[in-house]
Amino acid sequence: MKKSSAVSLPKDLLIFDAHCDTASMLFEQPWNFRGNPGHIDLGKARKGGLKAQVFAVWVDPLLAPHRAMKRAMQLLQTMEQKVFQPRLAAKVTSQAEMAAALLQKKLAAWLFLEGGHIIENSPEILHIFYSLGVRGMTLTHSKNTDWADSTTDTPRANGLTALGRRIVRQMAEMGMAIDVSHAADKTIAHVLAATPVPVMASHSNARKLCPIPRNLTDEFIRQIAARRGFIGANFFPAFIKLRVFEQIEENFKQFAREIRERTRGHLDDPDFLSRVEWEYYVRSVSGNETVAVNDLVDHIVHIAATGGIDCVGLGSDFDGIPSTPAGLGSAAAYPALIGVLRQRGFRENEIRKICGLNLRNFLRRVEKKGRGK
Ligand SMILES: [Zn+2]
Repeated sequence: MKKSSAVSLPKDLLIFDAHCDTASMLFEQPWNFRGNPGHIDLGKARKGGLKAQVFAVWVDPLLAPHRAMKRAMQLLQTMEQKVFQPRLAAKVTSQAEMAAALLQKKLAAWLFLEGGHIIENSPEILHIFYSLGVRGMTLTHSKNTDWADSTTDTPRANGLTALGRRIVRQMAEMGMAIDVSHAADKTIAHVLAATPVPVMASHSNARKLCPIPRNLTDEFIRQIAARRGFIGANFFPAFIKLRVFEQIEENFKQFAREIRERTRGHLDDPDFLSRVEWEYYVRSVSGNETVAVNDLVDHIVHIAATGGIDCVGLGSDFDGIPSTPAGLGSAAAYPALIGVLRQRGFRENEIRKICGLNLRNFLRRVEKKGRGK
């Protein structure tokens, strides 16, 4: 029997991932960051060669309008307590800080908000989050905000409202990454029209290969690439293969009555509703068709072929997805992904771009466009 050979990574390879929900996991579970049962901890990051990570401060839209900011603050505090510790990871807010962290061999940890509802329609609150070190924001999550439509909600603003345009321009001026993952097509079109700066889709795949609204059309891939933006490939099997998406939808529907019964009398408790919804989401992935690392790499190949090798990277969504491709179960498994990228014919310099350089260069451009820089 042939012994499986481990994939060796160059020591100076930067693996930099654009999206994870580890902050939420660490908030909800009595876990620490040194070692935990989730997808990302320090041990797994070291084993897999993960050197920098964008941590999403995700707040369930169920907590909007009046409890979302509080939850974001709680998540920031969780990050301070559990992650930004001298022997664990360095909070970074600029290219210079990231370079310093990498030099000290520390995991460089960026903070983004996930869900524009967190700022409660207030450009002032957005400023405060910038002051706290947040350097990007996903405009929506699964529900519309008052100023931007989500791709998984019924259109209300028909894209961005005037306030939405103002917020997006403010982000560009501050040097905050505008993240259009989860945004409706019209919202993305309005963002691209509202500002000329590079934008990102931190954790989205190609709609051509998995035709769901949550993924990007080829036209958006081209437009984001043309203005030197960034697209991070999402590891969630349901966004990689349509069949898996359909299986989850079917399974979830079967739970509808059970969910209604369990949540009856709790409709004013968004935390409870959120937990129950997640529990059934996790149950909905059991028995799904398996997705291989190669299937994920199909999306990377397609995004690179459509937008060029400089726009594509990683947006795992680790700790926010209830299942992963086989063999890519945590951050410790990045070498397996790199092995497949090699098999698929990517050259080493291209692999470096996909694994981290493209994201790093994108954030450098965002920072430079920020006012006063
Ligand atoms: Zn997300």
